[in-house]
Amino acid sequence: MNDIMFEVKDLRVSYGSIAAIKGISLKVRKGEIVTILGANGAGKTTTLRTISRLHDPTSGSILFKGGDITRTPAHDIVSMGISHSPEGRRIFGILTVEENLILGSYTQKKTDKKILAWVYDLFPRLAERKRQLAGTLSGGEQQMLAIARALMSKPEMLLLDEPSLGLAPILVKAIFKTIREISQTGVTVLLVEQNAKAALKLANRAYVLEVGNLVLSGTSEELLASEKIQEAYLGKK
Ligand code: ATP
Repeated sequence: MNDIMFEVKDLRVSYGSIAAIKGISLKVRKGEIVTILGANGAGKTTTLRTISRLHDPTSGSILFKGGDITRTPAHDIVSMGISHSPEGRRIFGILTVEENLILGSYTQKKTDKKILAWVYDLFPRLAERKRQLAGTLSGGEQQMLAIARALMSKPEMLLLDEPSLGLAPILVKAIFKTIREISQTGVTVLLVEQNAKAALKLANRAYVLEVGNLVLSGTSEELLASEKIQEAYLGKK
């Protein structure tokens, strides 16, 4: 198929002498939601950080819209259309909600009011709280802000690192519903998750990472039906 938007080929990443990613390959088609599942330490965050060029790969290549971005600097990655909502949110607590959002549009000369309105539309809770200091938001609201900030650069592809981490089930549902809405506006999504059940319900396809290796991939339906996934990630025997 020719609609591959993003591709990782035989990617390897090390921290000193320790190999964290041991040669993984994956593809994302335009408009898809693809999830990377795995336990703690599997290498999910490292994969996303390497795509965003916050780490250098040891070898392998990363392609976006047919171009090689393996050595493209991080700020150019954002301008090209890939935006990253990091694990742990990393919002600026002493700035207001709106100031955090404006920082997310740093690749543009000035903040596009239409994008701000689009983001507030997706996250009405943030619109209500635009003048509140981000550090005083609840955990769920901070997660919304981290995703919203990543959207401010109007990405074609959004990288989401564990958006459900530390959230109550009802908030996980709300966040995942919004990710679906974001996808429906045409944004391609690469989602890293430990919450396999919620991620597989949302995603079109999934890759499973174990200690730096891809061990399984398929459509979400295939993975939900897989015995290995049921035992290891969905708590069923
Ligand atoms: P989690 O869900 O716990 O965040 P993960 O799947 O995202 O896990 P990574 O954070 O990518 O996993 O870590 C992959 C491996 O790389 C782990 O063994 C981890 O200890 C190691 N690692 C991650 N960051 C560093 C670092 N800065 N220096 C050395 N080793 C690191």
